[in-house]
Amino acid sequence: MRIVLMGPPGGGKGTQATILKEQWNVPHISTGDLLRAAVRDATPLGLKAKAAMDAGELVSDDLMLGLIEERLGQSDARTGFILDGYPRNLCQAESLDQVLARIQQPVSGALLVEVDAEKIVERLAKRAQQEGRSDDNEATVRKRLAIYAEQTAPVANYYAEQGQLVRVLGEGDIDEVTQRILAAVTQAGWD
Ligand code: ADP
Repeated sequence: MRIVLMGPPGGGKGTQATILKEQWNVPHISTGDLLRAAVRDATPLGLKAKAAMDAGELVSDDLMLGLIEERLGQSDARTGFILDGYPRNLCQAESLDQVLARIQQPVSGALLVEVDAEKIVERLAKRAQQEGRSDDNEATVRKRLAIYAEQTAPVANYYAEQGQLVRVLGEGDIDEVTQRILAAVTQAGWD
């Protein structure tokens, strides 16, 4: 199972990935989590990425490619993976295809979890209170949503053009969304 999980910031990708990785027994690779760990540990990558993250902008494609190549090269990714937060623009989507072609592990497909924009702002405001993530303030959230619409939404079309996109409604209970995803993945024949 090699899945790209897509959806707007605050759309519940992380929550679903945490459940799905148990179900499929593959690692959940979240570039946001990897970057936040790098910032926390003040690694060279973390130091370079911090300003962009705090501004709600994308970290450079070069840095991201290095990060994702290294992570996909680790042994636990051999059985598959759920990618969360990568690729986030067309350049990254093409790079990912190249990396995966090289190791002969093309993606099974991309899953787009769709959530209405108003609900997202609501969810992120709640998350800001609960988790205190430094990029969940209003200005940054607006920036992240704009970048998502401009740069990340076209990635869904990229997969759709290759017949590799499945869309799932991300609204409702967590469990309801999980069931929709599992049904969609089975229907697509990815498992
Ligand atoms: P969200 O999905 O809520 O926006 P993430 O945890 O996925 O949050 O990402 C947090 C931040 O990390 C992004 O706003 C961006 O600055 C950076 N980031 C994560 N993944 C990527 C990526 N693939 N390319 C560039 N920047 C990224």
